[in-house]
Amino acid sequence: MKIIFSEKCLEYNMPGHPESPERVMYSHKYLKEKGYTFVEPSPCLEEDALSAHSNGLVEKVKKGDFSDFDTPALPDIYDHALLAAGAAIEAMEIAAGGESVFSLMRPPGHHATKNNLGGFCYFNNMAISVKKTLRTRNRAAIIDIDCHHGNGTEDIFLSDSRVLFISLHQSPLYPGTGLTSRENCLNYPLKPNTDVDSYLGVLEEALEKVRDHEPDIIGVSAGFDTYKNDPITNLMLDFGAYHKIGELFKELSRPLFTILEGGYDKDIPLCIESYLEGIDG
Ligand SMILES: [Zn+2]
Repeated sequence: MKIIFSEKCLEYNMPGHPESPERVMYSHKYLKEKGYTFVEPSPCLEEDALSAHSNGLVEKVKKGDFSDFDTPALPDIYDHALLAAGAAIEAMEIAAGGESVFSLMRPPGHHATKNNLGGFCYFNNMAISVKKTLRTRNRAAIIDIDCHHGNGTEDIFLSDSRVLFISLHQSPLYPGTGLTSRENCLNYPLKPNTDVDSYLGVLEEALEKVRDHEPDIIGVSAGFDTYKNDPITNLMLDFGAYHKIGELFKELSRPLFTILEGGYDKDIPLCIESYLEGIDG
């Protein structure tokens, strides 16, 4: 298991914001102590960002010319967004080469649509990496297990039959989308307080669709805000659940890379470790 990480992703901060540098910093420190191997990412190119986003959004982020309460125009945020997307591309390439890999970076990406940033996300890291993989591969699947609906990823890939998008998410919850499935985008809204067994049952059903799609590669948008103690959501997953999810992904027997999305409790390092052990076990 390789982990993509750069200390540069800890350099931006808005005090009091749940998407804090500490959540990733503590995860890095913990996983380093556990002996994981780390890879330093490079930023993606502007043309990579433009493969998933409009020129208007890329220019807005570059100039810091926007105002969004959750997704503030912080200094150098364009460079941070390009680096997180570059890390996602690197993860995709390592997975294609046959190794298991996790991108431990911020900002997250799955709420960034073709034209709009939002929900702590500037550029859609997953979409940018999958756009790149489709230059040389025919079929991809994206499994989004963040507690929030991956509305940005759905927006970017809706009607693209090469890509199967699966999202399990709490509903009602921000951003309020993903209530029904549309074409190649299959949504599994879950009631607040859904228990572990019910969650895993729905996931196994969704993974049958992934198998049917026969993807050349699978990207996982992993948010650990499905954790039972997460301060901004209401699902009930525990360490054992993350381990099981990792095992289920491993059983798909396809090149698979994972990108960190949300997750705001102090236990996030242990959630990530359980998931990685499931994949690598
Ligand atoms: Zn989330």
